Amino acid sequence: MLKLTFYGGANEIGGNKILLEDKDAKIYLDFGQSFDFGDEYFYDWLQPRNVNGLEVMFEFDLMPKVEKLYSKKVLHFTDLKYQKSDIDAVFISHSHSDHVNHLPYLDETIPVYMGHGTKVILDAYKKLYKQYYDIGEHQYNLFESGDKIKVKHLIIEPIHVEHSIPGAYGFIIHTTKGPLIYTGDFRLHGPKSQYTKEFIQKAKEAKPYVMLCEGTRMSNDVKENFSEEQVEQKIDKIVNESKGIVFAYFSMSNVDRFFSFYNVAKKSKRTLVIDTRFAYILESLREKINDLPDPKNDKYLKVYFRLGKSKIFDKTDYKVYERAYMPNMITYNQIKEEPKKYLMHMNFFKLMELIYIQPKDSDFIYSSSEHFLEGEENEDQTKVMMNWMKHFGIKFHIAHCSGHIDKESLEHVIKEINPKILIPIHTQNAKDFETLHKNVILPQKNKEIEI
Ligand SMILES: [Zn+2]
Ligand SMILES: [Zn+2]
Repeated sequence: MLKLTFYGGANEIGGNKILLEDKDAKIYLDFGQSFDFGDEYFYDWLQPRNVNGLEVMFEFDLMPKVEKLYSKKVLHFTDLKYQKSDIDAVFISHSHSDHVNHLPYLDETIPVYMGHGTKVILDAYKKLYKQYYDIGEHQYNLFESGDKIKVKHLIIEPIHVEHSIPGAYGFIIHTTKGPLIYTGDFRLHGPKSQYTKEFIQKAKEAKPYVMLCEGTRMSNDVKENFSEEQVEQKIDKIVNESKGIVFAYFSMSNVDRFFSFYNVAKKSKRTLVIDTRFAYILESLREKINDLPDPKNDKYLKVYFRLGKSKIFDKTDYKVYERAYMPNMITYNQIKEEPKKYLMHMNFFKLMELIYIQPKDSDFIYSSSEHFLEGEENEDQTKVMMNWMKHFGIKFHIAHCSGHIDKESLEHVIKEINPKILIPIHTQNAKDFETLHKNVILPQKNKEIEI
């Protein structure tokens, strides 16, 4: 008997936390945090502190009250008694917060499986932003695409997929009922689409009984389906037409997007300027992605150092890991002299640098999910950012494509893999899947499905 319980990822984009039970085997597929997690009760500085445990989450039904799952240290003020866990493993598809962020609550005795790339990214973020990114101490087991991992009688095959972050995987899980496919988050319109194609091929060959399929972009308000290549072309055009420095905002862990900007910089004989944190992430990722440039000495890359206490960029102003990039450093002084030579990574919290750079005839490319610009909860922040753009006369552009597969391609993928049962996850449009498949089961949050 195969049972699935959706503690997250049902009728919502993200927050995947899915329990799979087959005979005596129990595994979780991802253990993420919903994007709107706690929005109703937490605000600004009103947030759970480190000392708080699950009593806060249980109060508002924000986490499932399940026995034999959580770490002893988060149960102290709850009415759940700590018992040794009966969960055999947690399998993580990739390092986005909506797939990993609740790992710190888990009992440390549960083995956690993830790809090498995912571990590298999580470790880098933990070093840079310890208060936000710390998934806790666990027994980590790292896998590669094509591995076959045995957990009791289950065999789990991770296969790489393309997504907006490196190290993303889908899983083929061999159960007593037949193969179960878990897509994780994936796309087909970037430079690594071959990865996803391999996954589709292997999933199809497995002749799956059931498929848990992401549907982030199933909504009908489909915007243009840009590919990563088209994004690069758009960036290229903006950069070439700009008469000043070009600023760009994009996620530091989106390697495909990094390459789009890096390629444009190279072609237009500009230097891509990144900060020390970005340099650290890039360097960490080079361990697995060896065509990434070395931030310590690449000639198309410079590492930006902000003014420190000494006011003369003395090494004692910076953390030890930052000092390693000083041989390739750049400051506002050089940028101000020849602004047209640079394409600079910029984000909201670094806007203060504009006062030193004093940009003229400059452009800003916003190259990340537009939800931020559109979201009501970010209204104040967006307004402040736009005020800065106006003050410095900076032209604002958007160039972005999604990390998720578009609706039309998804239809082909489902036909190709052809599972007997289809379960939509990671979507707000689960019902729309019924138009794509004749046997769809709609999951409900915290409800068990027997298949
Ligand atoms: Zn996701
Ligand atoms: Zn994701």
